Amino acid sequence: MKVLRERIGLKVFLSYLLIILIGGLVMILAAQIHAPAALGRHISRMQEIVGDDPALAADLLENFATATTEILLVAMGVSIGAAIAISIFTSRRITAPIESMKEASRSIADGEYQRRVKVLSEDELGSMARSFNRMAETLEQTEKRRLSLVGDLAHELRTPLASIKGTMEALVDGVIPTETDALIDVQREVNRLQRLVQDLEELSRAEAGQIRLEKRPISPGELVVEVARRLQGQYDDKGVELSIDLSDAPPRIVADPLRLTQVMLNLLGNALQFTPAGGNVKVEVGEKSGNLVVRVQDTGAGIPEHDLQRIFERFYRVDKSRARPGGGTGVGLTIARHLVEAHSGRILAESPGPGQGSTFTVLLPLSS
Ligand code: ADP
Repeated sequence: MKVLRERIGLKVFLSYLLIILIGGLVMILAAQIHAPAALGRHISRMQEIVGDDPALAADLLENFATATTEILLVAMGVSIGAAIAISIFTSRRITAPIESMKEASRSIADGEYQRRVKVLSEDELGSMARSFNRMAETLEQTEKRRLSLVGDLAHELRTPLASIKGTMEALVDGVIPTETDALIDVQREVNRLQRLVQDLEELSRAEAGQIRLEKRPISPGELVVEVARRLQGQYDDKGVELSIDLSDAPPRIVADPLRLTQVMLNLLGNALQFTPAGGNVKVEVGEKSGNLVVRVQDTGAGIPEHDLQRIFERFYRVDKSRARPGGGTGVGLTIARHLVEAHSGRILAESPGPGQGSTFTVLLPLSS
């Protein structure tokens, strides 16, 4: 009984067997019910042929009945045999994909995330196998992201920690006097670590979909002007010109002003960071096909084509050197993308190539 409960193949086979047996029984029953009438007709026909000899008629009838039974039994035996063979074949066909999914799910549970099953048909089992493969793919991606996150984090922490450690050891050993720039270096690295931790907190909230938006009607033009005002000093210090074009700006959008400010700070901050002195950054606020369009265009470092999609990934930097002075944490754009997507919007990056400037475009549905 336990074997029966645990094995779907056996269940399918037994249900076929039940159908075969019931079919056989019904055939015998139907033959028995129908036999007297059919045989009666046959006897009267025989009597017409052989005359009124009851012994001959009885003999013929008996022979006929035996032959009919024999034919029926042979036909039934052969058809039951064929039906059993077919049911074994079909139950195997049904259970084979289920078996392979069972095996694959076991392997996945054991950490073999690249395991997939073969899609053998177009029916429900085939679509189940396809769904299974999609699930396995998602699990594999999630696992890869988890591993790369751990690796990335270790990498991100290593550089500032090594620098702090080196300076602290030199201070303790008296190699460098305490009142030197060394302390400022340590402070800078600690600040960087603190920023990284804050960004990571924000990123983990964003990736977990836990950003709670406090939307209200705001003027996108005013928001951009306010962000520009906050960064104007830094633009002036570096000698990068910042201009704003609000001529096509829609008057209102329903959005979370703090989150949108965060996105704009990131885009304008990046534009400043990657544009050399003498360059300029242009912000355009407009409207197109029911969307608010904010475009930040700079004349800076530009982005190689193969990096354009990847810069929205966490910790991804075109310039891999983490020692870059004032270098960011590499998660700003990842957070920005999550914030924009939380508003049902999109963020895009374009660049004609290295050294030729970049354009970042934020699209937000005006009706949201
Ligand atoms: P970071 O903290 O490094 O600025 P971001 O996620 O904001 O992190 O940006 C990721 C990477 O995208 C940057 O390191 C840089 O390589 C590239 N990038 C972003 N904005 C620009 C820009 N305006 N011009 C050139 N490259 C940019």
